[in-house]
Amino acid sequence: MALEMMAVPCLRDNYAYLLHDPETGRTAVIDVPDTAPVHDALEQRGWRLTDILITHHHDDHVGGVMRLCEDTGAAIWGARADAHRLPPLDHALSEGDRVAIGSEAGVVLDVPGHTIGHIAFHFPDSRLAFTADSLMVCGCGRLFEGTPAQMWSSLCKLMALPEETLICSGHDYTEGNAAFARSVDPDNQALAERMDQMVSDRAAGRPMATATIALEKATNPFLRAGDTTLKRRHGLVGASDGEMFAYLRALKDTF
Ligand code: ZN
Ligand code: FE
Repeated sequence: MALEMMAVPCLRDNYAYLLHDPETGRTAVIDVPDTAPVHDALEQRGWRLTDILITHHHDDHVGGVMRLCEDTGAAIWGARADAHRLPPLDHALSEGDRVAIGSEAGVVLDVPGHTIGHIAFHFPDSRLAFTADSLMVCGCGRLFEGTPAQMWSSLCKLMALPEETLICSGHDYTEGNAAFARSVDPDNQALAERMDQMVSDRAAGRPMATATIALEKATNPFLRAGDTTLKRRHGLVGASDGEMFAYLRALKDTF
């Protein structure tokens, strides 16, 4: 049976995600920007928190971890490489490690770029990937610590996940990202359709920090860094995919 997922808006534009195994009752949260909205969501569903999964050390992702841990006694999982700057870990994780949430195991992916110790959690049976500030809807995280080459290789790793995988990102920067996407990729028909869809999603109050890998590959300019037409449009026909990514990422920083 697939895990149940619930997106929980926190702070200004952050998202926490709850993941619940109906068979065993085990419930995880991925990132804790703030404690109160996570408590409210747990109460609303009648779920008891057992595990806290951390993607990276930024305060808008871990700010509520210690309070939530004190309130619930949940176990804390996070990157071994970042243990020195994360809340105290019960389980230190490296690439390929597994995180069992009841009957299903998530796989840890190293996705450096935004920060060096950034990890993602892929739950293949439930077709979910929690990517936080690596791959984001219609965009990717800013490069605070890593190089463009590191982020490009992280994105390639995520792009290789099955097309129907729903990526769950750490922020709702969706319209801003889409506006940049249109500025660099104006002839992209799938992007135009997606932007129309965004208007109705926003009006209906639907959470907008999630999307499938298939949709991201068609519309996210950073995942399209290997596209020859896009390279030609920017006069970079001879550039490697990684160089094209670096060019786009630098452009976004000034957008
Ligand atoms: Zn961050
Ligand atoms: Fe963030």
